[in-house]
Amino acid sequence: MTDSVNDCLFCRIVAGEIPATVVAETDTTLAFRDIDPKAPTHVLVIPKEHHRAVGDLDPVLAGQVLATAHQVAKSEGVDETGYRLVFNTGRDGGQTVFHVHCHVLGGRGLSWPPG
Ligand code: AMP
Ligand code: ZN
Repeated sequence: MTDSVNDCLFCRIVAGEIPATVVAETDTTLAFRDIDPKAPTHVLVIPKEHHRAVGDLDPVLAGQVLATAHQVAKSEGVDETGYRLVFNTGRDGGQTVFHVHCHVLGGRGLSWPPG
């Protein structure tokens, strides 16, 4: 688990200290492929600025994360077939990296409810 800015995996990806397969970038957001994909499309969209969880984002930045997620769905070709955006939050939500991230999942039928 990572939980501080100095020791934050995703801040280190933003800084270029850890490699990632970047698929989209804006002034305020970065999108890169999940290292352990759970679906044919599995991309993480993060704000470049460190925030712990989705509830810590101001509405403008939250909207920018969602807009990038939708752009990724389009560029991955899953916007027509469908996709799922997930913000795992806190212990029971299964959050393991405490730099807020939006999972963009698609490319196969996704079960509901999740396990
Ligand atoms: P969560 O469980 O919602 O906190 O999701 C964290 C996600 O980060 C998991 O799906 C991991 O596979 C993914 N992940 C962990 N390390 C890396 C990395 N270095 N590059 C890309 N994705 C990663
Ligand atoms: Zn961070």
